[in-house]
Amino acid sequence: MKIRLRFAFASLFALCFPLFAAAPSFAAPETPIIPYCQHVWGKATYTWSEDYSTCTVTRTCVRNKNHTISETAAATLSEETSADCDTPASKTYTASFKNEAFETGTATVVTSQALGHDWNETKYVWENDYSACTATRTCKRNESHVLEETAPASAVMTKPVTAEEDGTVTYTAVFSNRDLPAATLDVPISYLDVLWGDANGDGVVNNKDIVRLKNYLADYDEESKTSTVDIFPGADASGDGAVNNKDIVRLKNYFANLEDGSGLFTVTLGPAA
Ligand code: CA
Repeated sequence: MKIRLRFAFASLFALCFPLFAAAPSFAAPETPIIPYCQHVWGKATYTWSEDYSTCTVTRTCVRNKNHTISETAAATLSEETSADCDTPASKTYTASFKNEAFETGTATVVTSQALGHDWNETKYVWENDYSACTATRTCKRNESHVLEETAPASAVMTKPVTAEEDGTVTYTAVFSNRDLPAATLDVPISYLDVLWGDANGDGVVNNKDIVRLKNYLADYDEESKTSTVDIFPGADASGDGAVNNKDIVRLKNYFANLEDGSGLFTVTLGPAA
């Protein structure tokens, strides 16, 4: 029994010793052991051929940029839209990949620009008192495309009223939408239609009309012959066919010459009848 144990021990030592002899030290090996990469794939990048017939998708591991997966697939034309007024024509291509790590790739290509609207003539509808105008325009390509805007109108006496002859008031409405041309309307006006001295158009003649005239003249541009302050045909209080300081003077005289006894104004407004 002892002999058997010794033999066994000797045999085990003989087997192990060469291993110790072959491994003189336990220093770390020169090439480190690389653990198996648990890939975490980054965002897929899709690259299309120039004619969109193929698509190549690539994903790179966020842990090791040298680890990439890639696949190229044939693409198909999945949708084609034609251009209309607002939308450009386009083709959509789709590419599906065998590797489930890749989602289907799609690319939409604009093949021609939107056509833009082809507007019909503008229709104008004026308020009964010409204070505002509504402009409407429909598109020749699609009647559901409608432009509509209501804008306030300004009035200018383009032909003076005299006691003998009718004048003309030109109303103008300017729209903020550039595709709606400004509306202009000439309305004949007779001497009897005008409340002379009523510069602000509120139907009465009082100090407010002097204020309106002052504001109008303060803003008046000699070059364009316009003012951003509106006045009404009655602004020509002196009746000489022009609106200027003489109208303020005439209105002041008018108010200053109220006869106590009769309650009548002795100074007249507007053209001499
Ligand atoms: Ca007035």
